[in-house]
Amino acid sequence: MARGRQKKKVSVEKSLLAQESGTWLKKWKGRRPVALLYPNSYSIGVSSLGFQLVYSLLNSFDDVVCERFFLPEAGAPFRSFETQRPLNDFPLIFYSISFEHDYLNVARLLLAADIPLFAKERSDDIISADNPLVIGGGVATFMNPEPLAPFTDLFLLGEAEGMLPALFSLFDTCLAEKKRAELLLHFQKELAGAYVPSLYTPVYDKETGQQSGVKQEASGIPSRISKVIVSTTEKAAHSQLLSPKAEFSNLFVTELGRGCSRGCRFCAAGFIYRPPRLWNADAVIKGLEERGETVKRIGLLGMEMADEQELKSLSSYLLDSGCSLSFSSLRADRISGPLLELLGASNLKSVAIAPDGASERLRRIINKNLTEEDILLAAERLVAAGLYKLKLYLMIGLPGETYEDLQEMIALVKKVKERMAPVGKERGRLCEITLSVNSFAPKPWTPFQFHPFAGLQQEKGTSRTAKEAVASLKEKISFLKKGLRKEANVRMNHDKPENVLFQAVLSRGDRRLANVLATMAINQSPWKQAMKKHGLTPEQYALVQHGADDYFPWNIVDHKIEQKYLWQEYQKSFQAKTTIACDTAVCKRCGVCGD
Ligand code: SF4
Repeated sequence: MARGRQKKKVSVEKSLLAQESGTWLKKWKGRRPVALLYPNSYSIGVSSLGFQLVYSLLNSFDDVVCERFFLPEAGAPFRSFETQRPLNDFPLIFYSISFEHDYLNVARLLLAADIPLFAKERSDDIISADNPLVIGGGVATFMNPEPLAPFTDLFLLGEAEGMLPALFSLFDTCLAEKKRAELLLHFQKELAGAYVPSLYTPVYDKETGQQSGVKQEASGIPSRISKVIVSTTEKAAHSQLLSPKAEFSNLFVTELGRGCSRGCRFCAAGFIYRPPRLWNADAVIKGLEERGETVKRIGLLGMEMADEQELKSLSSYLLDSGCSLSFSSLRADRISGPLLELLGASNLKSVAIAPDGASERLRRIINKNLTEEDILLAAERLVAAGLYKLKLYLMIGLPGETYEDLQEMIALVKKVKERMAPVGKERGRLCEITLSVNSFAPKPWTPFQFHPFAGLQQEKGTSRTAKEAVASLKEKISFLKKGLRKEANVRMNHDKPENVLFQAVLSRGDRRLANVLATMAINQSPWKQAMKKHGLTPEQYALVQHGADDYFPWNIVDHKIEQKYLWQEYQKSFQAKTTIACDTAVCKRCGVCGD
């Protein structure tokens, strides 16, 4: 790379650093260097609250200096964000991953730093900058760590606040003394949430090719790894860093709680963060008060779960503090009172609500429980509050979906337009609707984990071809487009079903996919070609209809959710029967809460 370009890149990073607030710049002398990788761009990584929390927690240890690494732009050097050091200066490498589509980037980043990609190729010597320890965490790893397991020495499964202090006190006693294998065995035995993949060997069924179990390679290690969660908080987790280059520029994000009590059957977050925890209003306000006086743009996470009273009191607090609100999407049946007033005062350009299912019947199938009238009323109220652009999120390829459901969505979009238009007209404003269409991918730990991608329910073990599945989604997209083509001020955008198919493969994947990711990273091969090279197919991962008692690669993680409960929920979905939201005080139905 030309020297001039390198200099330019460094100055870009310096200028980003200068614009950030909350950066830790610590002296290295006498401290343990830790690299924290986000396997995507700066603007995506810096927007992740989880990544920010880990960065801040690691730096809160006095004897640690933690620097961040992001995916560099093409041709740019791969250096730490804070002091432009190479990854090879760090004996401890943490990566935090939220989405399947970033798995490939983990492989790319390790290769870019000449770190042996597969954990088994790393030396058994004492851990050092020349022989680093690669530690994985983040929500995608406690959903299903297996596709990344061969690249990773140690996973921390669960919420970082509950694990990092214990990990670092173990480092104090043994990092300099024990060789890699011995150290990892020690972690597996002593550290809650630790998962050392090399100590577990998957077993595959010769007939079906599916993973049928796992073999423990040492005595005294658990058969499954219990995820670690934070049980109480006096202060809600909130942004640690603000950056004008974040996806939402200088937005101060605070959690209202963790997880979601609603139990939408497609949504992994509603299951893998169980039990749902809602922080009390005092804890949320304590978190908000750390924002600094000049910070006025607020994002709240967990609005789906918050009760109406809490939303009202928080909205009043934010209004009184002169703050504006920003968010990804709102629950349509929660838009009223001070929240509406706050939205109106927030100068938002557009607002999103997520029906997710195309018809009322489908919304019962997925346990979303939004009626048509909820959506119409929300749209009308939003326009009355001055929000003229509405985005509607829709998933296609859901279990039980038919073309009648899609027809109902087309009709709903037209009805929403009819409800919004007169209210907008009174104010001399044009209303716009965007229908954002995303293909559904079955996620581990959800009732729909059993279901094939883009498919109707099938006989157990059978599958359509990937080509057929993708074609069926494309047809549905065309059908929706055609139905809305003549509607003025209605736009539609959609994802690429082929890309979501690969996401579904990774999501339901096992360790054999690490070879595929390695081939893609090393040879720049397309994913289908890389799968073929390793004798694997998209069908065996994404398109199989699973049965009630099937073993899944992600069963190595113990979320305490009973598989029979997920199966019952899956069966209930076919009768379009809904399930009430969690009530952790009394409910014991999924196995998470209780004795
Ligand atoms: S036991 Fe009940 S309240 Fe607890 S997580 Fe499961 S469904 Fe929710």
